[in-house]
Parts: sequence; C-alpha cells; structure tokens
Amino acid sequence: MLARIQASGLGEVRAPGDYGLAPVLAIHDRDYVDFLAGCWEAWQAAGRQGEAIAWVWPTRTMPGRRIPVHIDGRLGHYALGADTSICEGTFEAAMASKDVALAAVDHLLATGEPAFGLCRPPGHHAATDQFGGYCFFNNAAIAAQRALDAGHARVAVLDIDFHHGNGTQQIFYARDDVLFLSLHGDPLHCFPHFLGHAEETGEGAGEGFNVNYPLPPGTGFAAWAEALEDALARIREAGCELLVVSLGVDTFEGDPISAFRLASDDFLEVGRRLARLGLPTVFLLEGGYAVEEIGVNVVNVLAGFEGRG
Ligand SMILES: [Zn+2]
Repeated sequence: MLARIQASGLGEVRAPGDYGLAPVLAIHDRDYVDFLAGCWEAWQAAGRQGEAIAWVWPTRTMPGRRIPVHIDGRLGHYALGADTSICEGTFEAAMASKDVALAAVDHLLATGEPAFGLCRPPGHHAATDQFGGYCFFNNAAIAAQRALDAGHARVAVLDIDFHHGNGTQQIFYARDDVLFLSLHGDPLHCFPHFLGHAEETGEGAGEGFNVNYPLPPGTGFAAWAEALEDALARIREAGCELLVVSLGVDTFEGDPISAFRLASDDFLEVGRRLARLGLPTVFLLEGGYAVEEIGVNVVNVLAGFEGRG
C-alpha cells in the first residue's frame, strides 16, 4: 500500500508524532486501556503459551457483572470475539496506529487538505471497552473527537468497510455531534453478527444519528452505490462540517473473507462520489485482505477523490 501511494504522486508521506494517551482516553475507558497495556505481561505471568486469546465470555445466561481478576476472565470481559489475539507489541502498535489517525486529521485541520491515515491495526470494531475484529483503539472515533475538540460542531463518520463498524456505532450511539453511517454485509450473514441492523438508529440525543445499510452478500457496485448516495444525502442534510471515512477495501470482489463485488475501477468512482460532498475529508484505513490488490484499491479511492484517474 505504501509503495503504491508513493508511486502515485498523490502527496507527501510522513511519519506521525507521538500523541500520547489523552486522545485515547477521550474515547476509551481507562480500565480497558490499562488492560491492553498489561495484557501480554499478565498472560505470560499466568504461564500461558502463544498469543493471548479469549476463550470464555459473559453470555446471555451468564452476564458478567464484575470484571474478573484472572487474565482468562479479563480477556473474555474485554474481547468481543476470539478472532483477535494480543502479543508482544500489540499495545504499542495500537498506540502507533492512533497516532497515524491523529496526524492525518491534524493535517486536515491545519491545512484543509485531505489526508489518508495508513492505520494498522484498524479501529472500527473497537468499542469503548472492547477489542475485536483486529481492532484495539477506534482510530475513526479518536479522529472524529479530535475534530470536534478543534471546534467543529458536527462530524460525519462514514464507514465503507465491508464489515459493520460496531465499535464506532457503540461509541457515538447516544450522541448527536457525530453522525455515523455504515454500509456493510448484513450481520445476519456477516461478522460482527450482533450489531449493524437497519433499525439501530441511535438513542436519546443520538436518535437519528446512526444509519446502517446492511446489504446482502453478493452485492455489486450498483446497489452498493445506491446506499452510498443515500448516506451522502444524509451527511448533507445533517449539516456535517467534516468527514471521516473509515476506508476498508474488503468490499473488493477478490477479498478472501468478505462477500461484496466491487471491482478495482469502482473504487475510483467511490472516491469521485465522496469528493462531491465538498467536505474537509480524512480517510483512515480499516480492512482489506486481498493483499495483492489493497494498494491499488486504496489508491483508486484517493485518486478518484482527487479528480485523477
Ligand atoms: Zn472489514
């Protein structure tokens, strides 16, 4: 991806600065952050082998009302799935990833120029106090909060990753200063399975500020773009001043773990349509598992946005 971006001439590539924990704690709970920071050490101290992976959870018949002390119980409390492991360097990687997101949004705030944050690990599945879906800190939420703190009254987070942005939805569900919209595989069929339905529209002050577009497996560009146009119209109507795009390219037809059928050329058109909003825009990388094609697909979105290609 980096090689493709450098070859594209789309803009200068920079390393981020260190933003510390404060922007993380604006979104995530302190006890969750402390857990992530100490998990690997606690896992090793318990004599466990391999990467730390949750294997027991609070469930419908066994609600977890207290946070366990043992690392196995703590993992189950803070993990939303068994798909995501923690190892040496996980916390540091998550910290670096949110620094990339913050550097990107800060560039936008300072210059008005669009920016792309090549964030790894991704962030949109991470909730206030849960990790999963390869996500630990919610980069898009951290960036959106940064834009609000800089004086913007309302920010849109548009999630076009194949998977529902459950973490971003949960974080902003009761708020009206962030409009969250997600186009994704119907959770009846697709990860994360337990959030992302159309009837989830927000609560309290946030009622009407959460918009889900669950789409059936096999959805191609024409139907996907119809949902996108509806989302863009809602962003306009809500008077959003800045756009954060949770950019996953696992909507690609060749993606090995997803089920939409967007072609590489379609990503150019995605970028063009996003540009028509005319909003200050920051793109943050989420998923994409067709490793050979993620570079060209990401660059196509950015090139389309910039009116190239
Ligand atoms: Zn995804």
